[in-house]
Amino acid sequence: MAKIDAVLPASNAATLLTDKAISMFATFVHPTASQRVGAVLASGFLSEGKLVKDFEAQLAAELGMVHPTALNSGTSALHLALEVAGVGTGDEVIMAPQTFVASATTVIQAGARPVFADIEYNTGNLDPADVEHRITPRTKAIMAVHWAGYPCDMAAIQAIADRHRLVVIEDAAHALGASYQGRAIGSLSDYTCFSFQAIKHLTTGDGGALCARDPEKARAVRRRRWFGIDREATAVSEEGERDYDLVEAGYKYHLSDYAAALGLANLEGLGQRLATRRVWAQRYRAELQQVPGLTHFEPRADRESAHWLFGFHVENRLGFVRALKARGIAASVVHRGIDRNTLFGGLRSDLYQQRRFDETQIHIPMHDALTDEQVGYVIDAIRQGW
Ligand SMILES: *Cc1c(COP(=O)(O)O)cnc(C)c1O
Repeated sequence: MAKIDAVLPASNAATLLTDKAISMFATFVHPTASQRVGAVLASGFLSEGKLVKDFEAQLAAELGMVHPTALNSGTSALHLALEVAGVGTGDEVIMAPQTFVASATTVIQAGARPVFADIEYNTGNLDPADVEHRITPRTKAIMAVHWAGYPCDMAAIQAIADRHRLVVIEDAAHALGASYQGRAIGSLSDYTCFSFQAIKHLTTGDGGALCARDPEKARAVRRRRWFGIDREATAVSEEGERDYDLVEAGYKYHLSDYAAALGLANLEGLGQRLATRRVWAQRYRAELQQVPGLTHFEPRADRESAHWLFGFHVENRLGFVRALKARGIAASVVHRGIDRNTLFGGLRSDLYQQRRFDETQIHIPMHDALTDEQVGYVIDAIRQGW
């Protein structure tokens, strides 16, 4: 218990359980955010303006995103990606079920149908070997979700897409700052979707970004984030009215300047925070390597995870969760295969690795409010057994 005393001012386990428990997630707000957001509120201009442009420019410069368009959520990014990619009524999108429902509700929103392929048990990502036999004449796209921030096998997925002329859409809500074969996630495929929701790496309160590699598609994204009006190609007349002709129905999906101000503040030190997550992930892996009943995921050397989550497989999961809880530490299952939902057709029996994953996956605390001491305390607690 010496470790608890080192970490926490109040030195008993009961306190640890109540108000000092180590949570699964934390929202990061940079100390400069209040001032930056306050300045926008005081300016009287809250909507999409210069700060959204600045935010997009920094996403490109600092994270290597290609043509990022800032939006009001990651879900909006997924929906716009599908729509601009031409996914519509009657089409099919092949995807992994190990994700949040937004990956598939947006497919339905676009009028299409999610078709689930199996995952790799040791990563949670789409298994490229299970994709091709699910392709039909209606298949339009493959959606790759980078589970926990660990990049999917993009070379294999892109090769399948090229062979069958399919669009690739990445749900990179967990993968901000991740890289694959030395290239930033956000620069690889046709469309990449990010989320700036409150517990993601970089938050704008709510928000998202859509990267479209083709500049013409990026322009279509920009039009559709604001009703279908091309703000870049149309001018406001001397009489005050913007001169435009609407030819397509867009949405109200733009980000606002007060949210962009929060995003800009939270970009400060992001590289360092991502590096700290890598260090903690390495510690978890190294120091939990020999724990009986625990099986680690298997990262490959050609890609770097963003470590949004830290997960593994565990025997006697309920016992594990209870033992950690008793020591003041949260541990959690994060999303069971979403195919089980009635909306998506109900639990499928041909997704063998997904069903295994559902039974044994568990995730332990990984967020910016952790300390080295807390990571050590979590490791000690797990080593004590369950
Ligand atoms: C968070 C998340 C989303 C949705 O993002 P929002 O910004 O909340 O709309 C989509 N997919 C995955 C995998 C997510 O984790």
